[in-house]
Amino acid sequence: MTAKLIKGTEIREEILSEIEKEVKKIKEEHGKVPGLVTILVGENPASISYVTLKVKTANRLGFKEIQDNQSEDISTEDLLALIDKYNKDDSIHGILVQLPLPKQIDEKKVLNAIDPDKDVDGFHPVNVGRLMIGGAEVRFPPCTPAGIQEMIVRAGVETSGAEVVVVGRSNIVGKPIANMMLQKADGANSTVTVIHTRTKDMAAHCKRADILIVAAGVPGLVKPEWIKPGACVIDVGVNRVGEKISEKTGKKIAILKGDVDFDEAKEIAGSITPVPGGVGPMTITMLMKNTLKSLKFTLGLA
Ligand code: NAP
Repeated sequence: MTAKLIKGTEIREEILSEIEKEVKKIKEEHGKVPGLVTILVGENPASISYVTLKVKTANRLGFKEIQDNQSEDISTEDLLALIDKYNKDDSIHGILVQLPLPKQIDEKKVLNAIDPDKDVDGFHPVNVGRLMIGGAEVRFPPCTPAGIQEMIVRAGVETSGAEVVVVGRSNIVGKPIANMMLQKADGANSTVTVIHTRTKDMAAHCKRADILIVAAGVPGLVKPEWIKPGACVIDVGVNRVGEKISEKTGKKIAILKGDVDFDEAKEIAGSITPVPGGVGPMTITMLMKNTLKSLKFTLGLA
């Protein structure tokens, strides 16, 4: 069997064009656009490239975008004052502080200072609580898990009553996606198992999975023989396993590998995400969706 490919790059375009249409409609009817501020501290090359992509996507969608760059030596107090300014700015619906922050900054204090109703990353404890309660309480599901759920649903995979096995229990992927899939809701209603480094007989759990979501950060961790024939496999792992010269640019680029051995797994699974081009493109897409949702809340449209 050769699995159906669940391509994040294609689903991203579908969702972005839906967002673009909605932004135009809201602008015409209410004279408002989503406002997103991205706060970048210092010059970490990876952070610069993430923020650049976020800014580019927001601009493409017709958002108001402020890229507020701060120097590496900013104090926690000054960063808190900046967040307070954007918390009070009615034209800003989403505040994003790019992580990691420099060592002198109290990261937790900074993230917790963001107004939960502008926390489009969904990491504030209030939003984590809202996600746990589920239903109408949920404001901003965290972006990577929201992207994973969207991919499963758009691929037409049945989630209700499905055995979902999540490998990994991080606060940004494993725990929230496990919580989202067990909710009494469309695109969820699954029976969920979460695996971590203390799990006994990981293979036995994986073999039961109708939907296997792997977010461990260990290349090739999930063996092909652990995959149930026909299962949906979502590989969240992004592991740099070497470097190569890009045919397009002639520059050195990283060779990326997921947590699942794609070539063998695709012969067993029913559907599978590639790495790269799978879950990766979904995270920024869902950030845009959350920012639009935030504007809709302020207008009473959500
Ligand atoms: P993390 O915080 O390092 O958590 C990894 C989790 O996997 C932990 O819960 C750990 O268990 C578990 N784990 C690690 N090795 C294991 C093993 N041998 N057996 C069983 N469980 C194991 O990682 P993360 O932030 O969730 O990220 C996971 C992967 O997803 C990374 O490759 C990351 O780059 C990628 N990622 C991609 C995106 C995206 O594409 N947009 C976004 C976020 C993350 P313990 O808790 O017991 O230590």
